[in-house]
Amino acid sequence: MSETAVNVQAAARKFLAKTEQHLVSYLEACVHCGQCAEACHFYMASGDPRHTPAYKLFPIAKFYRREKSPLSWLRLTPPITEKDLSEWEELLFDTCTLCGRCNIVCPMGIDIASIVGAVREAFVAAGLGPTDLLAAADNSRDKGSPLGVTIAVMRERLEWLADEYDVVIPLDKPKAEVLLTVSSIELMKYPGSLVAMAKLLNAAGVDWTMSAKGHEATNFGYLAGKTDVAKLMVERVTDAAESIGAKTVIIPECGHGFGVLRWVGANLLGRPLPYEVFHITEFLAQLKREGRLKFRPFADPVTYHDPCQISRRGGATAAARYLLEGFAEGFREMSPSGNYNWCCGGGGGVQSIARAADLRHKVFKIKMEQVEATGAKTLVSSCANCRLTMEESKAHWKWENGLESLVEILAAHLIEQPQPPAA
Ligand code: SF4
Ligand code: SF4
Repeated sequence: MSETAVNVQAAARKFLAKTEQHLVSYLEACVHCGQCAEACHFYMASGDPRHTPAYKLFPIAKFYRREKSPLSWLRLTPPITEKDLSEWEELLFDTCTLCGRCNIVCPMGIDIASIVGAVREAFVAAGLGPTDLLAAADNSRDKGSPLGVTIAVMRERLEWLADEYDVVIPLDKPKAEVLLTVSSIELMKYPGSLVAMAKLLNAAGVDWTMSAKGHEATNFGYLAGKTDVAKLMVERVTDAAESIGAKTVIIPECGHGFGVLRWVGANLLGRPLPYEVFHITEFLAQLKREGRLKFRPFADPVTYHDPCQISRRGGATAAARYLLEGFAEGFREMSPSGNYNWCCGGGGGVQSIARAADLRHKVFKIKMEQVEATGAKTLVSSCANCRLTMEESKAHWKWENGLESLVEILAAHLIEQPQPPAA
């Protein structure tokens, strides 16, 4: 095998492994109807036919047709080249947020987000992939978080937050029923979100802790196509949960962190997860249902941005709405919303790819128009990555509407009430 700067053979081996799996049925199923095109925010923002979802199937489809399809022996399809891989790299990483919107309109049910996620592994094997996204994955492996937040930094940060906001944030309790994770985006950029979660869990009398062994909610290994790092991140959280006997792990306002642990975690770990995974909105909704959390109403006109990995891909669409119900009196839905929401433009690791910024901003215009149509003055979300993406695009367009975190709004309107004694 000749080694080149782009290792085509390594990519081919990875493609081969992937086409042994269920993905091959998707490749056979595409009828080239084009219905997915207008479901994709990248195509809608750019009008570039290369940004259509079906086009993103081409690298693996080309490999499949040449090497594995029933007619592959005819050798009608030319081999994948270094040039092919280099050209497709940007499409596979910068123009797919793994949002799954194309999936719900595809008459054949083709899950392009899963295919793109799998194909990214082949690109990384070939020595390709955006350096900033890959660095975030490497930082997660080497330092514990994509932003390079070490355990020592986290400890300092928690101590400061506890002092500054007069809130108890337990760390490394020897035993606890619930393990709370946090994304380093929240820890460093939106610490109010962690403070809010701590206040809400404490107010409801939950037996919870954070853990230095497994604190990071994000999984940039998964987003960057580095399966070894993805697995390591799941192992860390699992070690932490097992060591304190926690049967529940909460993922904070982090969409992909929730999706990866909840829906892919067991496969990455190689065994069933020994705990249940909840997104913070699901967990808080349950506490509200049990009467353990109550909120003062507020009347501001707000709307809710569904993070793709929490609503459409995550199955927690109803939780945020239940939390807002009877509390946010000025709440109004965007159209479309819920499982048909438009992505913020920065999921799937795209947020951390600097060269994708202009395209992300164009995508955000779809969201701006949606929000403006509701008359809402504030956009609420439950994903720190969406929040960061939208905040940057908001600044880019000098858009003045507010942007808030759901848990922070809830904590700000919490009614302190005595909790029933623990059973
Ligand atoms: S909607 Fe489905 S079947 Fe039609 S082109 Fe897109 S991926 Fe292929
Ligand atoms: S998963 Fe989302 S971003 Fe990716 S191709 Fe489909 S609609 Fe576009």
